[in-house]
Amino acid sequence: MLDRGARALGLNLTGAARDRFERFLEELLAWNDRAGLTSITDPDEVQLKHFVDSLTLAPLVVRHLAGGSGTVVDVGAGPGLPGLALAIVLPDLEVTLVEATGKKVVFLLHAIKTLALGNARAVRGRAEEIARQPEHRERYDLATARAVGSVATLVELLVPLLRVGGRAVLMKTRTGIDEEIAAAASALDRLRCVVDAVEPVAPPDLCETRVLVVLRKVAATPPTYPRRPGVPARRPLRQA
Ligand code: SAH
Repeated sequence: MLDRGARALGLNLTGAARDRFERFLEELLAWNDRAGLTSITDPDEVQLKHFVDSLTLAPLVVRHLAGGSGTVVDVGAGPGLPGLALAIVLPDLEVTLVEATGKKVVFLLHAIKTLALGNARAVRGRAEEIARQPEHRERYDLATARAVGSVATLVELLVPLLRVGGRAVLMKTRTGIDEEIAAAASALDRLRCVVDAVEPVAPPDLCETRVLVVLRKVAATPPTYPRRPGVPARRPLRQA
């Protein structure tokens, strides 16, 4: 299932990558009750809706980061999607997983260790706070998030973490995306970024139609952003 999806995306999984995904699947299901990781528990469905869906990001990452090497931050990583999937297929990538919920971070640390992923690390905290730390602010080549919030909210959570010239890639559902992007005009302005592309992706056998919204950071983030924890989601930036 996973192989077929990966091939359709132009990715050739190595034996090591396949082994890691197998282990990832086992650990995800074994820890699910304890850590509340996913509502999807059928192994085939996990492979498609979590793993293959996450991998739709890989070709784009390779395109933007020469040879797939560079730094990526996954905000609201949950059980490591898409971040751990990227770390598995692109070993030259350095992936930072930011997650607010403690028990999910415990799972992420366990998964990183068990899968022996030397190119991934997990950081516990809210993106709003992490983005205030010099170690993380304006540091990353690429930022991504899946199932974390609206475009306007994600702009405020992701863009402060990017270096100028870096890209944010939002994994979204196609339905209503134009309206959501239009509603984010003010957020894009204030966070000094532009929409580079809205790329449809069609993972095989995935019933949902997915889209990747690619943003480019054109100038440094004003010091007022992001606002306090919770505010970007509760009161997304609107027209002034
Ligand atoms: N990306 C994963 C998880 C989606 S659920 C997936 O696609 O399966 C959303 C996750 O984002 C939750 O685990 C939640 O704890 C986390 N989250 C939400 N807002 C956050 C924030 N501001 N900073 C860090 N994590 C956040």
